Amino acid sequence: MSDKTAYIGANIFNGQQMHTNCALLINGGRIGGIVSVEALHDDYARVELSGGLLTPGFIDLQVNGGGGVLLNQDPSIKGIQTICKAHLQFGTTSLLPTLITDAPDVTKQAIDAAIEAESTNVPGFLGLHLEGPHLSMQKKGAHSPDLIRQVTDQDIEILCEAKKYLSKLLITIAPESVNCDQISQLASCGIHLSLGHSAATSQQAKEAFTAGVSSVTHLYNAMSPLTHREPGIVGAALNADDIYCGLIADGFHVNADAINIALRMKTGRGKLMLVTDAMSTIGTDQDEFELNGRLVKREGGRLTLSDGTLAGADLDMISAVKFMTEQTNCDKFEALRMASSYPAQYLNISQEYGHLRNGAVANFIHITDHLEISSIWQDGEKKQ
Ligand SMILES: [Zn+2]
Repeated sequence: MSDKTAYIGANIFNGQQMHTNCALLINGGRIGGIVSVEALHDDYARVELSGGLLTPGFIDLQVNGGGGVLLNQDPSIKGIQTICKAHLQFGTTSLLPTLITDAPDVTKQAIDAAIEAESTNVPGFLGLHLEGPHLSMQKKGAHSPDLIRQVTDQDIEILCEAKKYLSKLLITIAPESVNCDQISQLASCGIHLSLGHSAATSQQAKEAFTAGVSSVTHLYNAMSPLTHREPGIVGAALNADDIYCGLIADGFHVNADAINIALRMKTGRGKLMLVTDAMSTIGTDQDEFELNGRLVKREGGRLTLSDGTLAGADLDMISAVKFMTEQTNCDKFEALRMASSYPAQYLNISQEYGHLRNGAVANFIHITDHLEISSIWQDGEKKQ
């Protein structure tokens, strides 16, 4: 097939609006634009799709595992490749492999593997997310209490050094373990900082936002709730115009009306972003696995420790989009933006990702009217 391909016969959602009777042009690994079918030049090889929708590939900022691999258990380039591949079939063309709180040597291995993944262009790898270990004991969730700890000067040095070799590094932190000066130091190295697993007050959260935090990790889960006298991190995040919020839309982590409230609030610059918080089970029939030596069981769409604590999610991105469309007040296009355009904006990569406008990386998917995935393209190449 020529380097120039035109996909016709499907509606096209470019990340902002819908186009009908149009062709999506691909030049090599890049989007060449969207033109009306009548204006299509002969030098494009035409591929006819029968209905459905072409939409940007999903971007997932929180992926602990997939394909039987948990990054904590296999912090290697091979582990990262397996995770990226496992999520591709669910429409995720770019992701941040995510390390849950672990020992310093495991964190180092994950950083080294991520740097290797970046330098060798592992398909789908976008950067690294370290969720912890600088969190709050009070809101530890499934993070091992033995491994949660205060940040040190040496940690900051290691993280800022890692950022030099990684285009994107996201770290979930709690103000209980990282003070505002330390937040500023990390932010000034170009690290994305997100509040999570924290019992901070809304005032502390606002100070952290001012110091350089730009998002919260899995809104509502493992964070101080909104109450009438103390609005907590939830209140601070919902009320802040420019703060992005990750959200686990699996029907277990957050009630649909709590999502509806967040949807009404996050209409400013900072948006809701769908994350899967997926573990190794995605793309497998695994029914249990280990996290820091503790058994996690998979049952009825949930992953839990023996005491019932949710330990990540048994969720893929197209299912999250479906949940938003079917169970909340979110329309399909906004749900698709929450899975692509908004995370791209958050990471400051929306020049090239999260949309299908001229010049973007050709990561896109073909879905049916019932939100089933038909085909997936990564860097212009058809993968499924
Ligand atoms: Zn978490």
